[in-house]
Amino acid sequence: MPLWTPASVESTERLSPRIVHIRLRPQTWRQPRAGQHVDVRLTAEDGYQAQRSYSLLSPPELESFYDLAIERLDDGEVSPYFFDVAQPGDEVEVLGPVGGHFVWPTDQVRPVLLVGGGSGVVPLLSMAQHRTALRDPQPPMTLVYAAREMAELILWPALQALEQQSGFTTRLVLSRASTAPRPQDKVGRIDAAYLASVLQPLGQSPLVYVCGSNGFVETVVQALLALGVPPADIRTERFGG
Ligand SMILES: Cc1cc2nc3c(=O)[nH]c(=O)nc-3n(C[C@H](O)[C@H](O)[C@H](O)COP(=O)(O)OP(=O)(O)OC[C@H]3O[C@@H](n4cnc5c(N)ncnc54)[C@H](O)[C@@H]3O)c2cc1C
Repeated sequence: MPLWTPASVESTERLSPRIVHIRLRPQTWRQPRAGQHVDVRLTAEDGYQAQRSYSLLSPPELESFYDLAIERLDDGEVSPYFFDVAQPGDEVEVLGPVGGHFVWPTDQVRPVLLVGGGSGVVPLLSMAQHRTALRDPQPPMTLVYAAREMAELILWPALQALEQQSGFTTRLVLSRASTAPRPQDKVGRIDAAYLASVLQPLGQSPLVYVCGSNGFVETVVQALLALGVPPADIRTERFGG
């Protein structure tokens, strides 16, 4: 049974106008599996506590730290603290890593489709980074990353660096851009026809990981089911909203 452990903020860095990268140094570090999350608890001076879940951005190979990417919700309780207030040396508490369903690899041989909306790309980057640390075979892996426009992408340099390695490809789907940045990208929304075109080169029986807001995950899952992807091959993580 995992217990709460104290953790200090090691560093903070704004990744976009709404998303901050937080590196936590927990007193007791436990190696995560790619895709897992931690629960973070804040305690105010009057004893009031608030806790939220955050996916781990860092791959299992990063020792001693838990890296998070937190989107600021204007009327939220916890995310504005991390975006506006948190400083190196601040103390919080962490529980985990937790989560047993949304983890990869469960099967290292099958191709993998990752579909992330907004900050939903966070645990998917951990999976993509973890892939590079696996012994052969490294299965083919495609990431579909949906955002409104280029300025809202987070972690894009890290993803492009991973794309230099064989077998990992990215495709952007930008709903409010006027042009697609690359030939393999798309302006518009994700639908069944689009997902069919992405699944086809991955071959037989890919595992699919979908992460983002409730509405995003629901739309993608319905499209995958309409294409005949078995429910058992679809894993989801919902951030709320
Ligand atoms: C497994 C998991 C992983 C996650 N990973 C990430 C991640 O990597 N990055 C990330 O940014 N987020 C992630 N989340 C979401 C995260 O846990 C928080 O939900 C998010 O940061 C918002 O928290 P908050 O305290 O800022 O907002 P909250 O205070 O929880 O408010 C959230 C929204 O609910 C509304 N609300 C709050 N209280 C009420 C009320 N009483 N009545 C009506 N509406 C209300 C607010 O207006 C706001 O829009 C994850 C969630 C889960 C479950």
